[in-house]
Amino acid sequence: MDLSKLTRRSFTKSLAAAVGSIPAAKLGGGLVRDAKAQAPQAADKDEVKIVKTSCRACIHNCGVLAHVRNGRVVKLEGNPEYPMTKGAMCLKGLSGINALYHPNRNMYPMIRVGSKDENKWKRISWEEAIDTIARKLMDTRAKYGAEAVFCSTGGGGNPAFRSISRFCNIFGTPNWYEPGCAQCYLPRTLAYGIMYGGPSTSIADESALEIYVPNTPMKSFVCWGTDPSYSCPAGGGRAL
Ligand code: SF4
Repeated sequence: MDLSKLTRRSFTKSLAAAVGSIPAAKLGGGLVRDAKAQAPQAADKDEVKIVKTSCRACIHNCGVLAHVRNGRVVKLEGNPEYPMTKGAMCLKGLSGINALYHPNRNMYPMIRVGSKDENKWKRISWEEAIDTIARKLMDTRAKYGAEAVFCSTGGGGNPAFRSISRFCNIFGTPNWYEPGCAQCYLPRTLAYGIMYGGPSTSIADESALEIYVPNTPMKSFVCWGTDPSYSCPAGGGRAL
């Protein structure tokens, strides 16, 4: 995109498109909102529907069967058809149902009213939120340059992971990072390589390649402080 042609209006549109690409669950409701939209009839009020989905609580995206009754998820379980896990899920994934219905979960945009120490907030519409953000970003760019804007996002389990770099490229700032790589994966991988010469410290990163080879000559395997069968069913756990 030609930056000289990036107007406030086109910027707002591209930002709206980026936000639109975030799954509805991240915007407050997803599965629940969809299920509510199809209000159950009296006859099937208590019927439990099985919805095939996947866990996005980490990069492995394990296959999940969500049990939905009356528009509400009542149970999560692993999908036995999913080839990498064959029905396994870790505790974090199973706890997703609590995150979905947590009373403090963000469901809509809020804007601060008053000073920071007052901690007062007001609900606003998505349109107003996007417009406010767009206006501030464009004002900052005009005043200090695009590099004055810094963006960050969550790690590999984040469905909008790629959107940040795309957005920053268009906006013109090289300043972005994602904490999962910057604070977790890359430091431990690099440090391990420097100290031990090995490719990775974690089979969760799928770099302990030998365990994936069916006829590996490896005779024993020591897991120290971890059991990927429980904590990482789709990656190292599946291989074990
Ligand atoms: S390993 Fe756990 S957190 Fe990651 S996708 Fe699978 S169930 Fe979810």
